[in-house]
Amino acid sequence: MEKMPIGVFASIDAGLGVKLEVVRDLGVKTIQLHTPAKESRTPENAKAFLAKLDEYGIKTTVVFLGFEGESYETIEITAKTVGFVPEETRAARLAEAREIADFAKLLGVEAIGSHIGFVPHDVDSDLYKGMVAAIQEYCDYLKGNGQRLHLETGQETAENLLAFLSDVNRDNIFINFDPANLILYGMGEPIESLKKVAKYIRSCHCKDAKKTTGVPGVDWGCEVPFGQGDVDAKLFIQTLAEVGYEGPLTIEREIPEEPERQKAEIGQAIEVINAIKATL
Ligand code: MG
Repeated sequence: MEKMPIGVFASIDAGLGVKLEVVRDLGVKTIQLHTPAKESRTPENAKAFLAKLDEYGIKTTVVFLGFEGESYETIEITAKTVGFVPEETRAARLAEAREIADFAKLLGVEAIGSHIGFVPHDVDSDLYKGMVAAIQEYCDYLKGNGQRLHLETGQETAENLLAFLSDVNRDNIFINFDPANLILYGMGEPIESLKKVAKYIRSCHCKDAKKTTGVPGVDWGCEVPFGQGDVDAKLFIQTLAEVGYEGPLTIEREIPEEPERQKAEIGQAIEVINAIKATL
């Protein structure tokens, strides 16, 4: 595969990503796939989806977990509902995460991406220990499938993330680096953070955002098209290249309620990325 091919975050049915036909129309050859709904995750659907990907010449690089009951409405609600943090749904979500991994295996995909949720900062708390144990268990399951786990960044600082990775202590856990999340959640400067976690980065999101005008970490920043926010798109891609990253540059633009605008802005992001890549 070419170095740093462009990708798009896509969906088959439910989900925030763009439809496969849009990816094809934009001429993009890699996608990250938001997990299809439970009823769609059948061997027949996997086969049909693979045939479509083949026809369009598209490769799926990561399948992303998603669960019912997750909400990104505010930072506080995100912290309470997303990933493996809520103790009452953790076992059921782990079971579903294993099913999603098996579906990804049918698609020939070796990486599972996940917003595992806000990692608790108190490393002595039961919540933290429970999260470490849950992710260890999941990594071990993925290992049996020949798969890796890519943690989505941004809900904790680079330092906290590194400490968590070290506590999980598995050789198939890596990072999906999302520079905009660090700005949205008020968790640090993206490029400095990228350098700190560089050796773990196996996939990334080209997403951009403006810093909050309210209280960082409490109030959201604002998501904007790639290249128009505080990420510094050029420095971001240059830095990825400098640290030896060769994986896909996956554009994430989640405005499914406005499909025309979504397609147009992804098209603009492709131009921004190609112009930067030409300078490398
Ligand atoms: Mg992301």
